[in-house]
Amino acid sequence: MKERLEKLRDELLGELKGVAKESELLGIKKRYFGRKGPLASLIKELSKLPPSERRSAGEAINRVKKEIEEKIDALLSEYHQRAREERLKKERIDVTLPGRRLPRGTLHPITHVLSEVEDIFLSLGFEIAEGPEVELDHYNFTALNIPPEHPARDMQDTFYIDKEILLRTHTSPVQIRVMEKQSPPLRVIAPGAVYRRDSDLTHTPMFHQVEGFMVDKAVSFADLKGVLTYFLRNLFGEKTGIRFRPSFFPFTEPSAEVDIECVMCGGRGCRVCKESGWLEILGCGMIHPEVFRAVRYDPEEFTGFAFGLGIERITMLLYGIDDIRLFFENDIRFLSQF
Ligand SMILES: [Zn+2]
Repeated sequence: MKERLEKLRDELLGELKGVAKESELLGIKKRYFGRKGPLASLIKELSKLPPSERRSAGEAINRVKKEIEEKIDALLSEYHQRAREERLKKERIDVTLPGRRLPRGTLHPITHVLSEVEDIFLSLGFEIAEGPEVELDHYNFTALNIPPEHPARDMQDTFYIDKEILLRTHTSPVQIRVMEKQSPPLRVIAPGAVYRRDSDLTHTPMFHQVEGFMVDKAVSFADLKGVLTYFLRNLFGEKTGIRFRPSFFPFTEPSAEVDIECVMCGGRGCRVCKESGWLEILGCGMIHPEVFRAVRYDPEEFTGFAFGLGIERITMLLYGIDDIRLFFENDIRFLSQF
Protein backbone atom coordinates (compact mmCIF):
# COMPACT_ATOMS: atom_id res chain seq x y z
CA MET A 1 0.00 0.00 0.00
CA LYS A 2 2.84 2.32 0.80
CA GLU A 3 4.23 1.83 -2.65
CA ARG A 4 0.89 2.61 -4.28
CA LEU A 5 0.59 5.70 -2.17
CA GLU A 6 4.06 6.87 -3.20
CA LYS A 7 3.27 6.17 -6.83
CA LEU A 8 0.01 8.10 -6.59
CA ARG A 9 1.81 10.99 -4.97
CA ASP A 10 4.49 11.14 -7.70
CA GLU A 11 1.87 10.84 -10.41
CA LEU A 12 -0.12 13.68 -8.94
CA LEU A 13 2.82 15.98 -8.42
CA GLY A 14 3.97 15.24 -11.98
CA GLU A 15 0.55 16.08 -13.34
CA LEU A 16 0.43 19.32 -11.37
CA LYS A 17 3.68 20.49 -12.93
CA GLY A 18 2.22 20.64 -16.42
CA VAL A 19 -0.97 22.44 -15.43
CA ALA A 20 -1.50 25.84 -17.02
CA LYS A 21 -5.11 26.64 -16.27
CA GLU A 22 -7.19 27.02 -13.17
CA SER A 23 -9.90 24.78 -14.62
CA GLU A 24 -7.39 21.96 -15.16
CA LEU A 25 -6.21 22.28 -11.59
CA LEU A 26 -9.76 22.05 -10.31
CA GLY A 27 -10.30 19.01 -12.54
CA ILE A 28 -7.30 17.21 -11.04
CA LYS A 29 -8.45 18.02 -7.55
CA LYS A 30 -11.87 16.58 -8.28
CA ARG A 31 -10.46 13.49 -9.96
CA TYR A 32 -8.06 12.54 -7.12
CA PHE A 33 -10.01 13.70 -4.09
CA GLY A 34 -13.52 12.78 -5.24
CA ARG A 35 -15.50 10.00 -3.60
CA LYS A 36 -14.50 7.55 -6.32
CA GLY A 37 -10.98 8.85 -6.62
CA PRO A 38 -7.77 6.82 -5.94
CA LEU A 39 -7.33 8.35 -2.47
CA ALA A 40 -10.81 7.40 -1.42
CA SER A 41 -10.30 3.82 -2.58
CA LEU A 42 -7.00 3.63 -0.65
CA ILE A 43 -8.83 4.75 2.47
CA LYS A 44 -11.45 2.08 1.87
CA GLU A 45 -8.72 -0.53 1.68
CA LEU A 46 -7.45 0.44 5.13
CA SER A 47 -10.00 -1.91 6.67
CA LYS A 48 -8.41 -4.85 4.87
CA LEU A 49 -5.05 -4.22 6.48
CA PRO A 50 -4.04 -5.88 9.69
CA PRO A 51 -4.96 -3.60 12.61
CA SER A 52 -1.30 -3.04 13.50
CA GLU A 53 -0.63 -1.43 10.12
CA ARG A 54 -3.86 0.49 9.81
CA ARG A 55 -2.86 3.43 11.92
CA SER A 56 0.44 4.22 10.20
CA ALA A 57 -1.07 3.61 6.76
CA GLY A 58 -3.94 5.98 7.57
CA GLU A 59 -1.50 8.59 8.71
CA ALA A 60 0.56 8.17 5.55
CA ILE A 61 -2.52 8.64 3.36
CA ASN A 62 -3.54 11.74 5.27
CA ARG A 63 -0.02 13.15 5.02
CA VAL A 64 0.04 12.73 1.25
CA LYS A 65 -3.51 14.04 0.98
CA LYS A 66 -2.61 17.10 2.98
CA GLU A 67 0.58 17.66 1.03
CA ILE A 68 -1.20 17.48 -2.31
CA GLU A 69 -4.07 19.65 -1.12
CA GLU A 70 -1.68 22.32 0.05
CA LYS A 71 0.19 22.16 -3.22
CA ILE A 72 -3.02 22.58 -5.21
CA ASP A 73 -4.22 25.46 -3.00
CA ALA A 74 -0.87 27.21 -3.37
CA LEU A 75 -1.07 26.85 -7.14
CA LEU A 76 -4.66 28.09 -7.14
CA SER A 77 -3.87 31.20 -5.15
CA GLU A 78 -0.86 31.77 -7.41
CA TYR A 79 -3.20 31.68 -10.40
CA HIS A 80 -5.64 34.05 -8.77
CA GLN A 81 -2.87 36.42 -7.93
CA ARG A 82 -1.54 36.37 -11.47
CA ALA A 83 -5.01 36.85 -12.99
CA ARG A 84 -5.61 39.78 -10.68
CA GLU A 85 -2.35 41.42 -11.66
CA GLU A 86 -3.11 40.97 -15.32
CA ARG A 87 -6.54 42.50 -14.90
CA LEU A 88 -5.08 45.47 -13.02
CA LYS A 89 -2.46 45.94 -15.70
CA LYS A 90 -5.16 45.98 -18.36
CA GLU A 91 -7.36 48.38 -16.43
CA ARG A 92 -4.50 50.60 -15.36
CA ILE A 93 -5.24 54.30 -15.72
CA ASP A 94 -2.46 56.84 -15.83
CA VAL A 95 -4.10 59.74 -14.03
CA THR A 96 -1.21 62.02 -14.95
CA LEU A 97 -2.02 61.82 -18.68
CA PRO A 98 -3.65 64.98 -20.01
CA GLY A 99 -7.34 64.50 -20.86
CA ARG A 100 -8.69 64.57 -24.37
CA ARG A 101 -9.67 68.13 -25.13
CA LEU A 102 -13.12 68.86 -26.47
CA PRO A 103 -13.02 70.97 -29.61
CA ARG A 104 -13.55 74.49 -28.39
CA GLY A 105 -14.45 77.60 -30.34
CA THR A 106 -12.40 80.76 -30.14
CA LEU A 107 -13.39 84.39 -30.20
CA HIS A 108 -13.47 85.96 -33.63
CA PRO A 109 -10.40 88.21 -34.02
CA ILE A 110 -12.67 91.23 -34.49
CA THR A 111 -14.52 90.42 -31.26
CA HIS A 112 -11.21 89.92 -29.51
CA VAL A 113 -9.74 93.28 -30.57
CA LEU A 114 -13.05 95.03 -29.95
CA SER A 115 -13.10 93.87 -26.35
CA GLU A 116 -9.44 94.84 -25.93
CA VAL A 117 -10.27 98.36 -27.14
CA GLU A 118 -13.29 98.49 -24.84
CA ASP A 119 -11.21 97.39 -21.85
CA ILE A 120 -8.70 100.20 -22.34
CA PHE A 121 -11.43 102.86 -22.45
CA LEU A 122 -13.35 101.29 -19.57
CA SER A 123 -10.16 101.58 -17.51
CA LEU A 124 -10.21 105.32 -18.28
CA GLY A 125 -13.75 105.66 -16.94
CA PHE A 126 -15.55 105.60 -20.30
CA GLU A 127 -18.97 103.98 -20.58
CA ILE A 128 -20.26 101.89 -23.47
CA ALA A 129 -23.31 103.00 -25.47
CA GLU A 130 -25.11 101.41 -28.40
CA GLY A 131 -27.34 102.70 -31.15
CA PRO A 132 -29.40 101.30 -34.04
CA GLU A 133 -27.72 100.08 -37.23
CA VAL A 134 -30.75 101.12 -39.24
CA GLU A 135 -30.58 104.84 -38.65
CA LEU A 136 -32.35 108.05 -39.53
CA ASP A 137 -30.66 110.40 -41.95
CA HIS A 138 -30.92 113.08 -39.26
CA TYR A 139 -28.66 111.23 -36.81
CA ASN A 140 -26.26 109.86 -39.38
CA PHE A 141 -25.75 113.19 -41.21
CA THR A 142 -27.72 116.35 -40.44
CA ALA A 143 -27.18 116.48 -36.67
CA LEU A 144 -23.48 115.82 -37.27
CA ASN A 145 -23.19 119.00 -39.29
CA ILE A 146 -23.47 117.22 -42.62
CA PRO A 147 -26.33 119.10 -44.32
CA PRO A 148 -28.22 117.62 -47.31
CA GLU A 149 -25.92 118.99 -50.03
CA HIS A 150 -22.68 118.08 -48.31
CA PRO A 151 -20.25 115.98 -50.41
CA ALA A 152 -19.70 113.57 -47.48
CA ARG A 153 -23.20 112.27 -48.23
CA ASP A 154 -22.00 110.80 -51.48
CA MET A 155 -24.78 108.50 -52.60
CA GLN A 156 -22.27 105.88 -53.66
CA ASP A 157 -21.19 105.27 -50.10
CA THR A 158 -24.50 105.02 -48.29
CA PHE A 159 -27.07 102.23 -48.31
CA TYR A 160 -30.37 104.12 -48.29
CA ILE A 161 -33.52 102.26 -47.36
CA ASP A 162 -35.68 105.22 -48.28
CA LYS A 163 -35.20 108.98 -48.32
CA GLU A 164 -35.00 109.28 -44.52
CA ILE A 165 -33.77 105.86 -43.44
CA LEU A 166 -30.37 104.33 -44.09
CA LEU A 167 -27.82 101.88 -42.76
CA ARG A 168 -25.50 103.95 -40.59
CA THR A 169 -22.20 104.74 -42.31
CA HIS A 170 -20.39 105.35 -39.02
CA THR A 171 -20.97 105.00 -35.28
CA SER A 172 -21.04 108.79 -34.81
CA PRO A 173 -24.88 108.98 -34.67
CA VAL A 174 -24.63 107.31 -31.24
CA GLN A 175 -22.89 110.52 -30.10
CA ILE A 176 -26.02 112.50 -30.96
CA ARG A 177 -28.36 109.94 -29.39
CA VAL A 178 -26.41 109.90 -26.12
CA MET A 179 -26.06 113.69 -25.92
CA GLU A 180 -29.78 114.15 -26.56
CA LYS A 181 -30.59 112.04 -23.51
CA GLN A 182 -27.79 112.91 -21.11
CA SER A 183 -26.01 115.99 -19.88
CA PRO A 184 -22.24 116.45 -19.52
CA PRO A 185 -19.90 115.32 -18.15
CA LEU A 186 -19.85 112.44 -20.63
CA ARG A 187 -17.22 109.84 -21.38
CA VAL A 188 -18.63 107.32 -23.84
CA ILE A 189 -17.50 104.83 -26.44
CA ALA A 190 -19.91 103.36 -28.98
CA PRO A 191 -18.72 100.18 -30.71
CA GLY A 192 -20.71 98.59 -33.51
CA ALA A 193 -21.22 97.58 -37.13
CA VAL A 194 -21.42 100.18 -39.88
CA TYR A 195 -22.22 99.89 -43.60
CA ARG A 196 -20.79 101.37 -46.78
CA ARG A 197 -21.06 100.47 -50.43
CA ASP A 198 -17.46 99.47 -50.82
CA SER A 199 -15.68 96.16 -51.36
CA ASP A 200 -12.03 95.33 -52.05
CA LEU A 201 -8.90 94.06 -50.27
CA THR A 202 -9.25 96.60 -47.46
CA HIS A 203 -13.00 97.39 -47.55
CA THR A 204 -16.09 95.31 -46.87
CA PRO A 205 -19.70 96.55 -47.08
CA MET A 206 -20.04 95.93 -43.34
CA PHE A 207 -17.29 96.65 -40.85
CA HIS A 208 -16.84 97.72 -37.23
CA GLN A 209 -16.07 101.05 -35.71
CA VAL A 210 -15.58 102.41 -32.26
CA GLU A 211 -16.76 105.94 -31.75
CA GLY A 212 -15.64 107.71 -28.62
CA PHE A 213 -16.28 111.13 -27.15
CA MET A 214 -15.81 113.14 -24.02
CA VAL A 215 -17.76 116.27 -23.15
CA ASP A 216 -17.32 118.50 -20.13
CA LYS A 217 -16.40 122.02 -19.15
CA ALA A 218 -12.92 122.88 -20.41
CA VAL A 219 -12.08 119.69 -22.27
CA SER A 220 -9.14 120.61 -24.49
CA PHE A 221 -7.16 119.26 -27.40
CA ALA A 222 -4.52 118.24 -24.84
CA ASP A 223 -7.09 115.87 -23.27
CA LEU A 224 -7.76 114.43 -26.71
CA LYS A 225 -4.05 113.85 -27.33
CA GLY A 226 -3.53 112.39 -23.87
CA VAL A 227 -6.40 109.92 -24.07
CA LEU A 228 -5.63 108.75 -27.61
CA THR A 229 -1.89 108.44 -26.99
CA TYR A 230 -2.59 106.37 -23.87
CA PHE A 231 -5.02 104.21 -25.83
CA LEU A 232 -2.74 103.61 -28.83
CA ARG A 233 0.33 102.83 -26.73
CA ASN A 234 -1.73 100.36 -24.68
CA LEU A 235 -2.89 98.63 -27.85
CA PHE A 236 0.27 98.71 -30.00
CA GLY A 237 3.00 98.93 -27.36
CA GLU A 238 4.57 101.49 -25.03
CA LYS A 239 7.15 102.71 -27.51
CA THR A 240 4.84 103.19 -30.50
CA GLY A 241 5.52 106.48 -32.27
CA ILE A 242 2.37 108.58 -32.68
CA ARG A 243 1.70 111.74 -34.69
CA PHE A 244 -1.32 114.00 -35.11
CA ARG A 245 -1.93 115.54 -38.55
CA PRO A 246 -4.43 118.31 -39.29
CA SER A 247 -7.44 117.00 -41.19
CA PHE A 248 -11.06 117.79 -41.88
CA PHE A 249 -14.33 116.25 -40.67
CA PRO A 250 -17.66 118.08 -40.77
CA PHE A 251 -18.46 117.22 -37.13
CA THR A 252 -15.18 118.29 -35.51
CA GLU A 253 -13.18 121.52 -35.50
CA PRO A 254 -10.22 121.46 -35.40
CA SER A 255 -9.85 117.92 -36.76
CA ALA A 256 -6.89 115.60 -36.88
CA GLU A 257 -5.86 112.26 -38.18
CA VAL A 258 -3.66 110.10 -36.01
CA ASP A 259 -0.85 107.96 -37.41
CA ILE A 260 1.20 105.34 -35.63
CA GLU A 261 4.66 104.27 -36.59
CA CYS A 262 4.30 101.35 -39.01
CA VAL A 263 3.95 98.13 -37.00
CA MET A 264 5.27 96.08 -39.94
CA CYS A 265 8.58 97.84 -40.60
CA GLY A 266 9.05 99.89 -37.43
CA GLY A 267 9.05 103.13 -39.42
CA ARG A 268 11.68 102.22 -42.03
CA GLY A 269 9.14 102.05 -44.85
CA CYS A 270 7.42 99.04 -46.43
CA ARG A 271 4.58 98.00 -48.70
CA VAL A 272 1.97 98.22 -45.92
CA CYS A 273 2.81 101.84 -45.02
CA LYS A 274 3.47 102.72 -48.67
CA GLU A 275 7.10 103.47 -47.77
CA SER A 276 6.05 106.35 -45.48
CA GLY A 277 6.84 104.61 -42.17
CA TRP A 278 3.45 105.71 -40.80
CA LEU A 279 -0.01 104.15 -40.67
CA GLU A 280 -3.23 106.12 -40.51
CA ILE A 281 -5.12 104.73 -37.54
CA LEU A 282 -7.98 107.02 -36.52
CA GLY A 283 -9.76 110.32 -37.04
CA CYS A 284 -10.55 112.76 -34.27
CA GLY A 285 -11.15 116.36 -33.32
CA MET A 286 -12.89 118.81 -31.02
CA ILE A 287 -16.67 118.44 -31.32
CA HIS A 288 -18.04 121.10 -33.69
CA PRO A 289 -20.22 123.82 -32.06
CA GLU A 290 -22.93 123.03 -34.64
CA VAL A 291 -23.10 119.45 -33.29
CA PHE A 292 -23.58 120.80 -29.75
CA ARG A 293 -26.32 123.12 -31.01
CA ALA A 294 -28.11 120.14 -32.62
CA VAL A 295 -28.42 118.52 -29.17
CA ARG A 296 -29.09 121.84 -27.37
CA TYR A 297 -25.78 122.00 -25.53
CA ASP A 298 -24.35 125.50 -25.11
CA PRO A 299 -21.04 125.49 -27.08
CA GLU A 300 -19.87 128.39 -24.89
CA GLU A 301 -20.27 126.26 -21.79
CA PHE A 302 -19.13 122.82 -22.95
CA THR A 303 -16.32 121.52 -25.04
CA GLY A 304 -15.47 118.00 -26.01
CA PHE A 305 -13.56 115.75 -28.30
CA ALA A 306 -14.60 112.81 -30.46
CA PHE A 307 -12.78 110.11 -32.36
CA GLY A 308 -13.56 107.13 -34.53
CA LEU A 309 -11.53 104.12 -35.53
CA GLY A 310 -12.01 101.04 -37.66
CA ILE A 311 -11.65 97.75 -35.81
CA GLU A 312 -10.92 95.65 -38.91
CA ARG A 313 -7.99 97.88 -39.81
CA ILE A 314 -6.55 97.69 -36.30
CA THR A 315 -7.02 93.91 -36.22
CA MET A 316 -5.27 93.55 -39.58
CA LEU A 317 -2.32 95.55 -38.28
CA LEU A 318 -2.14 93.73 -34.96
CA TYR A 319 -2.18 90.29 -36.56
CA GLY A 320 -0.52 91.06 -39.89
CA ILE A 321 -3.57 90.14 -41.99
CA ASP A 322 -3.57 91.59 -45.51
CA ASP A 323 -7.07 90.76 -46.78
CA ILE A 324 -10.07 92.12 -44.86
CA ARG A 325 -12.43 89.62 -46.49
CA LEU A 326 -10.85 86.77 -44.48
CA PHE A 327 -12.69 88.08 -41.42
CA PHE A 328 -16.08 87.34 -42.95
CA GLU A 329 -15.52 84.12 -44.89
CA ASN A 330 -15.92 81.98 -41.74
CA ASP A 331 -13.07 79.70 -42.73
CA ILE A 332 -12.39 77.78 -39.53
CA ARG A 333 -8.71 77.28 -40.48
CA PHE A 334 -8.26 81.05 -40.49
CA LEU A 335 -10.39 81.81 -37.44
CA SER A 336 -8.91 79.13 -35.19
CA GLN A 337 -5.47 80.77 -35.36
CA PHE A 338 -6.52 83.48 -32.97
ZN1 LIG B 1 5.90 99.99 -42.93
